Amino acid sequence: MRKGLLFIISGPAGSGKGTVVNELLKAHPELKLSISATTRAPRPGEIDGVHYYYISKEEFEQRIQNGKMLEYTTYSGNYYGTPEKEVQNALDNGIDVILEIEVDGAMQIKKKISGAVAIMLTPPDSASLESRLRGRGTETEDVIKWRLDRAKEEIKLMPEYDYAVINEDGGADKCAEEIYGIICAEHQKTIYTSTIVEKFI
Ligand code: 5GP
Repeated sequence: MRKGLLFIISGPAGSGKGTVVNELLKAHPELKLSISATTRAPRPGEIDGVHYYYISKEEFEQRIQNGKMLEYTTYSGNYYGTPEKEVQNALDNGIDVILEIEVDGAMQIKKKISGAVAIMLTPPDSASLESRLRGRGTETEDVIKWRLDRAKEEIKLMPEYDYAVINEDGGADKCAEEIYGIICAEHQKTIYTSTIVEKFI
């Protein structure tokens, strides 16, 4: 059976990561998006068990103690983490799993799971990043500045990733297909295709 592979997709605020991941899953429903646990409150329209598992700080810390998190981090004052069991079950069943997580968690996974593939999604340049963050029109200047600085710090870590995908304005479909191309290419690595050689021996 084809082995399930783990793909990390990170991208700073303003990279359009949410839209790209949605496009990817719409076009390729055989992929599984891991649902993270978080201590942050749901935003309007978000559903428990669909967007995140919303749990208390105490519960989150208990899960860390019990070794139930594949990785976790704090971001903007809240815990975020990947529940290990669901991811492992999917991989064991040959299903490719997508983790939409930030850089700290991505680096933990790269160290822990050999063969995990990290993809960074970025806006094309700094001006475009800023105009996207301002375009939301919902945040204060302080929040915008914090997000901008944080986004730049995250993009600086790109060399730690295996692939970079650039999201031009309106380019979500194209990015989703580029990511799917990476997924297909990873499966064709010779370390995963030894059974083909065996057929010739
Ligand atoms: P938001 O609160 O906007 O949904 O997410 C904030 C940040 O947390 C985003 O960069 C998102 O990718 C990241 N994130 C979401 N789930 C996880 C997770 O399970 N682990 C880590 N390390 N980051 C996560």
